[in-house]
Amino acid sequence: MALKVDCPTCGRKIGFSPANPWRPFCSERCKTVDLGAWASEAYRVAGDPQEDVVGDDAAAPVSPARPHS
Ligand SMILES: [Zn+2]
Repeated sequence: MALKVDCPTCGRKIGFSPANPWRPFCSERCKTVDLGAWASEAYRVAGDPQEDVVGDDAAAPVSPARPHS
């Protein structure tokens, strides 16, 4: 008897069992999508994530972790 849950990403019924390493998601993809959505929310990425990385890198000072004032 397998406990059935809805995948939070796609709503598919999946078996919530140790056989499913992605539970409560139905697959690795759905788990990644969910985490991706969370990350997008956190970083306010509207388009290409790589675009944001470049922009963030350009805005940050080039000097390493030691800020000299
Ligand atoms: Zn799913």
